[in-house]
Amino acid sequence: MKKILVAGGGGFIGGYLVRELISAGHTVTSVDIKPIDEWYQVHSQASNFSRDLSLLSECELSTKDIDEVYNLAADMGGMGFIENNKAACMISVLINTHLLIAARNNKVGKFFYASSACVYNASKQDSEDNPGLKEEDAYPAMPEDGYGWEKLFSERMCRHFYEDFNIETRVARYHNVYGPLGTWDGGREKAPAALARKVALAKINGSGSIEIWGDGEQTRSFTYIDDCIKGTLLLMDSDVREPINIGSDQMVSINQMAGILEDIAGIELDRHYNLNAPKGVRGRNSENSKIRELLEWEPTISLEHGLLETYNWIQQEILNKAKGKQ
Ligand code: NAD
Repeated sequence: MKKILVAGGGGFIGGYLVRELISAGHTVTSVDIKPIDEWYQVHSQASNFSRDLSLLSECELSTKDIDEVYNLAADMGGMGFIENNKAACMISVLINTHLLIAARNNKVGKFFYASSACVYNASKQDSEDNPGLKEEDAYPAMPEDGYGWEKLFSERMCRHFYEDFNIETRVARYHNVYGPLGTWDGGREKAPAALARKVALAKINGSGSIEIWGDGEQTRSFTYIDDCIKGTLLLMDSDVREPINIGSDQMVSINQMAGILEDIAGIELDRHYNLNAPKGVRGRNSENSKIRELLEWEPTISLEHGLLETYNWIQQEILNKAKGKQ
């Protein structure tokens, strides 16, 4: 059994990962910049610390006697956040850089980095009929401004730390991960949680309508959290040193996703399209040949199932919040 550091363990994906690693019998240290009472999940069997991992000294402290690092710490959010906070997103480069340096100094054996589909060349995503982004489509480089550049740069840092210092690095390109216990309001939420919240609120308030960003015909694929965690652990256990997609290839338009949520909620809503809102690329999907070949696995959980779980959780969160205010 290993001693494992999860950086960003107070966040959405980090919380699930810590849970899974503990249940597999590992000794887990979880670190996040947020105060512990703001973490999405706090697992008492882990050692939990509130630290700023953009600082080298905190990275050195956190990687002492650690066998493996999972770096999920980043200043990030959905399209509404990353389009308006490009510098903040790029400053996350300090976290991965300092964690890698500290991992090298403390002789950590293996290092995982959470990259993103936002590294892909924008010119390959200008049609809603996206055939799926293959790993080689990240080059020539034209990633999402700010957030995507930081991810692409940090991917390469991982590669060179393996080449120059022999640290085994693994890089996953996550495609839109969603599920319960994630961000669902406040401005950092991503499309599935934002839409689920809007539909649930429309149902609770009886407003009869929702706002959709863009014309709703932009396409994406969405990866349920359980698939994300399974793929992450498989990748870390593998000998795959190149960046690899971890993403569902069930591509839908935002309008189709709204339709699935309406079916779950049992209502039909008028849709108001906000054409000035952040929309991101026109079409994006994951192409999964490489993960099938190298890990003999790919995400399989359907959007219908994942959205049902997510919708039910968000609806309950809204009701709990309203009760708290009474
Ligand atoms: P999240 O925002 O819930 O988690 C990230 C965590 O990092 C937060 O809890 C935050 O407080 C923490 N953090 C930020 N700055 C820090 C610092 N200086 N020191 C320590 N902790 C710090 O996001 P998430 O959805 O769990 O994403 C985890 C990782 O996966 C991120 O790197 C993200 O870019 C990547 N990713 C996520 C998605 C997705 O759809 N959720 C898609 C692609 C890539």
